[in-house]
Amino acid sequence: MLKAPFIAVSRHRINLDGDGVVTLACFGSCPLRCKYCINPQCFEERDSWQTLTTEQLYTRCKPDELYFLATGGGVTFGGGEPLLRSAFISEFRRLCGPDWVLSAETSLNVKQDNVAELIPVLNHWIVDIKDTDPDIYRAYTGRDNSLVLSNLHLLADSGLTDKVTLRIPLIPDYNNEYYRQKSITLLQDLGFNHFDLFDYIIKNK
Ligand code: SF4
Repeated sequence: MLKAPFIAVSRHRINLDGDGVVTLACFGSCPLRCKYCINPQCFEERDSWQTLTTEQLYTRCKPDELYFLATGGGVTFGGGEPLLRSAFISEFRRLCGPDWVLSAETSLNVKQDNVAELIPVLNHWIVDIKDTDPDIYRAYTGRDNSLVLSNLHLLADSGLTDKVTLRIPLIPDYNNEYYRQKSITLLQDLGFNHFDLFDYIIKNK
């Protein structure tokens, strides 16, 4: 059984991280360094991280199976960056079977092989776009966004646009409504139509 580090496993989340009743399982580790990250504990291993095998996570989730099936819920993998753990998620799918809705909250800033492995595994992709402008993205996350864009092409070319929700924030001091609209237009041209638009609220600004 594969094992992975988690910063938290949170049960009974309702309509927050996907439809219905959801267990949110947050992996440690993230390749990005977002300036307003709300989970900075992902950046370095901490005593509070817990290591779980796929079977141990399945055992934790199993008591909620009736809720999952009745509400169209399941397990959402977050982080950190869950797609760094694509093999773990694939093995989890083999354990839980086809009926639980499995989702990932991801930046898509991972190797294309990790994304391709999960195309037959995940029911829903929640993609944190940040901004599609390369300079804004680099300034905000410290990383290049070319992998994000190529992975979006892969999802679109795989016919998955209806399974993808794109989260596009207004990020104080980094983008504005003009740049957000440019991102939306670019993504619509790829065939995506499900957008979650919101503002980052930064305390003490
Ligand atoms: S992708 Fe998420 S976890 Fe990673 S640095 Fe950005 S906000 Fe933090």
